[in-house]
Amino acid sequence: MKLLAGKNALITGASRGIGRAIALRFAEMGANVGFTYFSSVEQGEALVKELEAFGIKAKGYRSDAAEGAAAEALIQQFTADFSTLDILINNAGITKDGLLLRMSEEQWDSVMNVNLKSVFNLTKAAAKILMKQKSGSIINMTSVVGIKGNAGQANYAASKAGIIGFTKSVALELGSRNIRCNAIAPGFIETEMTAKLDQKVVEGWKDGIPMKRGGKPEEVADLCAFLGSDMSTYISGQVIQIDGAMLT
Ligand code: NAP
Repeated sequence: MKLLAGKNALITGASRGIGRAIALRFAEMGANVGFTYFSSVEQGEALVKELEAFGIKAKGYRSDAAEGAAAEALIQQFTADFSTLDILINNAGITKDGLLLRMSEEQWDSVMNVNLKSVFNLTKAAAKILMKQKSGSIINMTSVVGIKGNAGQANYAASKAGIIGFTKSVALELGSRNIRCNAIAPGFIETEMTAKLDQKVVEGWKDGIPMKRGGKPEEVADLCAFLGSDMSTYISGQVIQIDGAMLT
């Protein structure tokens, strides 16, 4: 199904996990895909060829989500390469977990910079293009942790809660220009990010999920495809959970 045929999409943090699954699904559905990576250089470079195999245009950019100036340069380079920007997915994210009393300012700042400040910088840089086009779909990756909170993740939860407020504000500000902005809140999705967690904790979580399993990156990618496509043209300002009924 070529749901995204001819659309140009930019996805941050696509060298691994959910971002990689989104890039592959978008290419399969006919979108041209630009994506960023930072540390995983080999995986990032390899992904370009995998995407091109779907017969679409693909390009990887090594770009640090935490750098404000990099966001402006990235959008300029992307529009020079692809001419329009139809879908922006702010997906890049990190965790630096710790209990509050042991959490350093560095742990706080780096999670805020990569997870939240990057969404502000990239959305702002992209907004100028989208406003001229009078169209666009922005999708921000938050988390159920941003809704519910989580012991040991005060920095991560705050960054993800911030994304929700930001998403709603952008939807209100840019709606009149036909620009949509939504957030996706995954529950427990099995990726390298979650593989770092204590396996006993992981089993405990799965047990608490009514569907009794973690989600797949491809399931999140399908939701992104829907929100990026013309099947969701009146959906904006929403936080859509994808969590097997973990948080209702
Ligand atoms: P992951 O497997 O750890 O992948 C994270 C991606 O972000 C990688 O491609 C990584 O690229 C990129 N990234 C990290 N720091 C970056 C930086 N400074 N600049 C550019 N890219 C950077 O994580 P994931 O599980 O796929 O998570 C993706 C998103 O979903 C995150 O925002 C996460 O918070 C959110 N989420 C995940 C879950 C879950 O259960 N997995 C649940 C809720 C929300 P490099 O390695 O190349 O730096």
